[in-house]
Amino acid sequence: MAMQEHRTNYKLPEAGLVIGDRFVHTGAGGRYKHVNPATGAVQADVPLAGPADVEAAVAAARRAFPGWRSTPGATRRDCLFRLADLVTTHAEEFAWIGAREVGTPIASTRAIPPKFSAWTKYAAGWADKLEGHVVSTLQDDAVFDYTLAEPYGVIGMILTWNGPLMALAMKVGPALAAGNTIVIKPPEVSPFTAYRLIQLAHEAGIPPGVINLVTGGAEAGAALVTHPEVQKVAFTGGVATARKIAAVIAPLMKPAIYELGGKSANLVFADADMDTAAKHSARQPLFLSGQGCVLPTRLLVEESIAKDFTARVVEEVRSLRMGDPMDPQTELGPVINGAAQERLLSTIAAARTNNDGRLVLGGARPASQPDGFFVEPTVFADVRPESELAQHECFGPVLSIFTFRSDDEAVEIANGTKFGLGAYIHTTNLGRTLKLAHRLEAGTVQVNGAPTARENAPFGGRGQSGYGREGGKYGLDEFVRIKNVAIKV
Ligand code: NAD
Repeated sequence: MAMQEHRTNYKLPEAGLVIGDRFVHTGAGGRYKHVNPATGAVQADVPLAGPADVEAAVAAARRAFPGWRSTPGATRRDCLFRLADLVTTHAEEFAWIGAREVGTPIASTRAIPPKFSAWTKYAAGWADKLEGHVVSTLQDDAVFDYTLAEPYGVIGMILTWNGPLMALAMKVGPALAAGNTIVIKPPEVSPFTAYRLIQLAHEAGIPPGVINLVTGGAEAGAALVTHPEVQKVAFTGGVATARKIAAVIAPLMKPAIYELGGKSANLVFADADMDTAAKHSARQPLFLSGQGCVLPTRLLVEESIAKDFTARVVEEVRSLRMGDPMDPQTELGPVINGAAQERLLSTIAAARTNNDGRLVLGGARPASQPDGFFVEPTVFADVRPESELAQHECFGPVLSIFTFRSDDEAVEIANGTKFGLGAYIHTTNLGRTLKLAHRLEAGTVQVNGAPTARENAPFGGRGQSGYGREGGKYGLDEFVRIKNVAIKV
């Protein structure tokens, strides 16, 4: 049955590149037929950037840098506040674009504009507070020595598609607050949100050239990260791409932050609040149809409660409403494209063939959704910790359940992958929480359903989940470099 069209006044922005003050609708990288993930229908013809566009965008960012850098911090702050407010004014439009762009249910995309606003205002607040400090004074050693916190210059931002507005929230405000100018490269599948945001940025008084956009593929990305005028790379995506980027920018001595994938463990103890733990353990891994870096996709349950708890989680997952992302009732949308759908179905088939775990729910294309790129929410129980299913990032609606008998065993399983992005704990025992939080190899630890990726707290990985931090003052510090000045007197 074809999806019923949900009525709206919005339309997809005319996707294009942004180079200085020019909104351009052709690119040297050809064109891309953008497909609505929920229907499989082509919905836009997107111009893509090639190396020549990247060259022009970096030149525009370079030209804009001296002016933006010397703009008083308070003025940069006010511009970012106005941008945050404009996004709030256009919140429903961004929610709508997000749902059409990548298939995230509108009930979820509606939560993101307030997050964009919070992240941007938090970062903006630092714009006039990024101070150096005095290291030594005359009394110490006849040298007056102090530090300066300076912007890098042009930042190259390579983004993935899974949460277009959120990815921009985590990077754009901090980089601009610190006085950098930026060139953003989203992939072909998410060209719309950044384009609309830059229109609003100009309206907010952020000068043209401060934010540039070169939507495109690997060729545009490679041209951006290796460009000699790009002083730092901020990357969000997969580890294989991060390795390629690291290999080409290392000889250039170019710094980068890498926000990569994960296989985050969620430890549920018998003493946990069962209602909270079951809801969180079932729903959180399936947020964005499982296409999120920090989602708790490995559920570790204490053996004494494993049978009952697994049954509760499976029931909760089964109750999720799958369907049209534009329908406010929908809780589970499609995955991003046909390739992702095929990849997930073969990951599930291989896990079954190899007895990586016991399939207890899902595992197929849902019969109720013949159009678009849907995959049934899928749960495996009794997963073997060393199996491919346990070790590999599925990036789709696949939850793996393990059991453990002791805190030590839980930590061993949790730390037993190459990733280290997030970890989650459900327990009412504070002592256990504190001990485990120290032992878990992860950049963030969320306890009893605490939200992740908050604007004032650091977010990022370790191990193959990457390095660098977004959020909080740490996120600002990624976009400044310290100069030391020593004056002999
Ligand atoms: P990907 O690595 O394929 O692509 C990411 C970006 O890199 C895209 O813009 C792509 O065009 C670009 N790119 C590809 N080849 C390039 C090259 N040679 N040089 C420069 N740029 C190049 O990742 P994906 O499949 O789009 O995203 C999924 C991954 O992103 C998952 O692993 C997921 O966990 C991760 N992710 C991480 C976070 C985080 O904050 N830690 C957030 C969301 C997603």
